[in-house]
Amino acid sequence: MKLLPAILFLPAAVLAAAVLQTRMAAANPDVDQSRLNGAAAEPQNWLEYGGTYAEQRYSTLDQIKAANIGGLHLAWSYQFDTNRGQEATPLVIDGVMYTSSAWSKVFAIDAKTGREIWHYDPKVPGPKAVFACCDVVNRGVALWKGKVFVGTIDGRLIALDAKTGAFEWSVVTTDPSKPYTITGAPRVFRDKVIIGNGGAEYGVRGYVTAYDTATGKQVWRFYMVPGDPAKPDHAASDSIMATARKTWFGTKYYDYGGGGTPWDSMVYDPELNQLYIGAGNGSPWNREIRSEGKGDNLFLGSVVALNPDTGAYLWHYQESPGDSWDYTSTQQMILATLPIAGKSRPVLLHAPKNGFFYVIDRKTGRLLSAKNFVPTTWADHIDIATGRPAFTADAYYNHGPHLNMPASLGGHSWHPMSFSPRTGLVYIPIMQLPIVYDQQANFNYVPGQFNIATTFKLNEDTSPGAPKISGALIAWDPLNQKEVWRVPQPEMWNGGALSTATDLVFAGNAHGEFNAYDARTGEKLWQFKQPAAIMAGPVSYRVDGEQYVAVLAGAGGAGPLAMPDSTRPPQRQPFGRVLAFKLGGTATLPTEDLSLPPANPPAEIFAADVMQAGAAVYLDHCMVCHGGSVLPDLRRSTVLTDKSAWNSVVIGGAYSSQGMASFAPWITSDQAESVRAFVAGQAQALQQQTSAKQTKSRNLP
Ligand code: CA
Repeated sequence: MKLLPAILFLPAAVLAAAVLQTRMAAANPDVDQSRLNGAAAEPQNWLEYGGTYAEQRYSTLDQIKAANIGGLHLAWSYQFDTNRGQEATPLVIDGVMYTSSAWSKVFAIDAKTGREIWHYDPKVPGPKAVFACCDVVNRGVALWKGKVFVGTIDGRLIALDAKTGAFEWSVVTTDPSKPYTITGAPRVFRDKVIIGNGGAEYGVRGYVTAYDTATGKQVWRFYMVPGDPAKPDHAASDSIMATARKTWFGTKYYDYGGGGTPWDSMVYDPELNQLYIGAGNGSPWNREIRSEGKGDNLFLGSVVALNPDTGAYLWHYQESPGDSWDYTSTQQMILATLPIAGKSRPVLLHAPKNGFFYVIDRKTGRLLSAKNFVPTTWADHIDIATGRPAFTADAYYNHGPHLNMPASLGGHSWHPMSFSPRTGLVYIPIMQLPIVYDQQANFNYVPGQFNIATTFKLNEDTSPGAPKISGALIAWDPLNQKEVWRVPQPEMWNGGALSTATDLVFAGNAHGEFNAYDARTGEKLWQFKQPAAIMAGPVSYRVDGEQYVAVLAGAGGAGPLAMPDSTRPPQRQPFGRVLAFKLGGTATLPTEDLSLPPANPPAEIFAADVMQAGAAVYLDHCMVCHGGSVLPDLRRSTVLTDKSAWNSVVIGGAYSSQGMASFAPWITSDQAESVRAFVAGQAQALQQQTSAKQTKSRNLP
């Protein structure tokens, strides 16, 4: 009481500073189990990856609604230091936003102003990028008792002081000699932090590990697939792996890795004290090569429930038995309670890559219903009694090429879906990619390289009835297993969704649009457009009485790395950003020069056979990252004109700190030079094209 008069006489600026200080100091990231269990009761915060433990990505904030959405404008933006992929869902707690960015960097940002509070760079070695199939992305951080946790591309789990960003501890969670990566967000529960891993395309064995949040000491590990029987794991999965091994055949799988990498969804269920892990695809993809063409290969493509304290197996449901298609079940799981057959039941909602929407009883793991949400050519339907798919005749493409849908990118991938308990609908960014799978002749396992034993190419049938590449945001009714509305998107690969208590759905797309839709009809109500693709999941929070909607913008992921955007003029991908919106926001985005340098063909003449040899090497080793618009277009490279400079990059690793590893383990200097010859030809063609266009435009009347 004595202090009160003094405060009243403080000058306004000091008072404002004091308020700011208070707010920053009050940014108490001291979340514990009871606070996380009750996350739904503090909608001003976004405490966990999917909002709450149920991961519904549903906000009960109701300030922004259809009636006033015209007044929703940019409140602030924060620019990252890179144009690499942005896939993180930020967390927000008491006015502070915590997010990760490409290269596993972590940022704490004032959620009201966009001012950086601190950032942390784990200094991932650049050459690790060659093991990241789908860019050096990171999907987010976790908060627990004053710490922030992040998994890194090079397989570490790191704990930081949430207030200052200071390093607390780090543990190497993967075998550094193997091509593992971590892109997923850790999850926290009961003084444990859990992290998975990725890398099944390259040949690894997936697992999740729980660590003590205070010390980083390992508590338990669960392997998703069996390993070499001669080398015991001494892990929580030991007893169930004996059972799982009966579904695998031959002796190759454990040399190849087997796969099952849990690279994204892991959901803790406080109601039942269970943990659900989404397991990835087989390694290699092709079951003929991996497991003598037979067996379910547990736990590939499965949801596996574990005891969170011990890692002991509880139950599993396998969505893609005997996976041969890169059908991961790593896609985000949502926990809900739904009225089914007159009873209120705890369910898990899942739309994995394989194209079926599953409603699973999460007490028992029993399948309650399943229906395809995109066309599926690998299975006709799911038998509810047995829980097994009815495979189509040529699903395993072992009688010749087979048009396979969904393709390896999935009918739905990591882009988070959202469930609104108000509408009862799930909002899913879906994809269609008609791909023809075939057996790879003479498969030869090369350590550290793509090892999938499958060839795939775009379906050549372009007749009017043939399936096309497409993407859409759909609203799916999980009770009746049917689509309620659909909004087609301009490209296949689009952004995650957020639903709100005012029946809005926010979702971005590949063309840089951030849209709001009517959650009941799909009618578009609002749009903000900027140059970077928006792939990540949006969040909503409140600071000082104002509701915000925020999302990360930035291309990335497999698609944009490998494929140029066919419908827009080529440009450099802009730097990634956090965008935050509020009613009456007045911020504008800084403009960026997105023009590309000109084609830079050397004057030399290369022999046709060298150029042709280079084309093959380029297809095998270069295109998957340099074919798109994220990484440098090699036709415009300054080193293209200089044989020794080119060699110093490709073989010598001169740019390895930026992610361009030395390719000496995989190609020779002669092959590197043949790639230069091939790219030189392409650069010449590009230069001619460009000058023809310029001439044409000059000749216009
Ligand atoms: Ca995969």
